[in-house]
Amino acid sequence: MVNTAASPSTPTTISADALATMADTINERWAGDFLTHLQKMVRIPAVSPSFAPEWAADGHLDAIVEYAADWLNAQGDPDLTVTISRLPGQTPLLIATLPGSTPDAKNVLLYGHLDKQPGGGGWTATSGPWEPLVKDGYLYGRGSADDVYALFAMWGAIVAAKASGADYPSTTLLLEASEESSSCDLPDHIDALADIIGQPDLVVCLDAFTPNYERLWSTSSLRGIVVMDVTVSILSATTHSGDAGSIVPSPFRIMRQLFDRIEDSSTGEILLPELTVELPDGAAEIIDQMSDSGLDFPTADFPMLENITPDHVDLRTQFLKRAWTSSVTYAGMDGFPSSRQAASVILPSITTRLSVRIPPTLDPQAAAAALTAAFETSPPSNAQVTVDVIAAEAGFSALPLSDKLAAAVQSASQRNYGKPSANFAAGVTIPFVGMLGRRFPAANVLTIGALGPDSNPHSPNEALNLDAAARITRAVSEILVTGF
Ligand SMILES: [Zn+2]
Repeated sequence: MVNTAASPSTPTTISADALATMADTINERWAGDFLTHLQKMVRIPAVSPSFAPEWAADGHLDAIVEYAADWLNAQGDPDLTVTISRLPGQTPLLIATLPGSTPDAKNVLLYGHLDKQPGGGGWTATSGPWEPLVKDGYLYGRGSADDVYALFAMWGAIVAAKASGADYPSTTLLLEASEESSSCDLPDHIDALADIIGQPDLVVCLDAFTPNYERLWSTSSLRGIVVMDVTVSILSATTHSGDAGSIVPSPFRIMRQLFDRIEDSSTGEILLPELTVELPDGAAEIIDQMSDSGLDFPTADFPMLENITPDHVDLRTQFLKRAWTSSVTYAGMDGFPSSRQAASVILPSITTRLSVRIPPTLDPQAAAAALTAAFETSPPSNAQVTVDVIAAEAGFSALPLSDKLAAAVQSASQRNYGKPSANFAAGVTIPFVGMLGRRFPAANVLTIGALGPDSNPHSPNEALNLDAAARITRAVSEILVTGF
């Protein structure tokens, strides 16, 4: 018999019986206690700290982290160590560790989060964000898919891996409570827990978007973001535009000229060379895969009005530009009255909030510095221009997985979805992925999730596709036992 486990690029073989046991274990748990407890956790309004300044007094974040810890402890695994990390003024974080089947087992870090977006209004599928409802294969409720399901996906993957009879790696379950606030408290917890976490060989992030449920999509890159306020000041007081127009420069006109320094206003192309990058090896192939994989135009996802022409009309270009180029949006303006209140005057000073997405491999501090210099250097009409950088978050570009892990991911996708896995180069920013990738540079990083196009994250009617949850749990379980 050929021992395929010895090959560096072939997943460890497990028997059909073991696979069936794993699948049954996971399917039963998802149809049973996982679903029951996830519904109870939907009821906890554990809103992330950015949206809930009184979170410490409210106690909901503590409540959901304690619920998860109690539930894990109740699983009765004598080797499982569950700890709630608490740091002054910070949200709690749950960490649980379970040794692998052998002393030299590899080390896997599984990431998820228990904090949630605010409930918001407009819910129609269920009576409100904190009222779980199972209907037509979905669990509706805030946090169901983003990202409380991850607790059960992690645990189901581990339990099934142990039930398979195959060797399994050491696992660390990390569930934070500040993800929807840019993971503001995660770095300090990771520092405090460095000895417990050690050096993972694989980090599995269970909080990503999946463009469909047809295969196991893994997010290969994410853009970074720079947020800044640009203020143009011309006058010390509001002035009559009949008197002053044609003489006093309009601050809006100056602002337009400043924007023209960074962006081609007819195409939306970013003009600063400092905000562009060379595509790393493999990036173009991932874009090709995306375009050839049957994915629809991203354009179809956006509620554009009839006959609006998108910035790019070709599918591959849309994927490429969204993943690997900078784009700016003018997200807010201060200094203007509402149009109904507006008099015919020249305003003394106006401010624009810019949100600039930057390519995955670009240093966000360098991007912020280039933008600041573009605005502040020799302003038109000697206007007073000030720039206030609000945030500068790096993106992330994953290195290719080790050959054996990549092969295990392919097999897990093929078995559980009927199609091979594929990479997805995303346009969004998920700060914790880059943070973990930089913190553990030797680790393989696999960023996957059950948040599909019908999940409505951050919106009314958030829903977990229960079949997708069970599938991703089975896939992770198989990767644990076949990937090392
Ligand atoms: Zn999330």
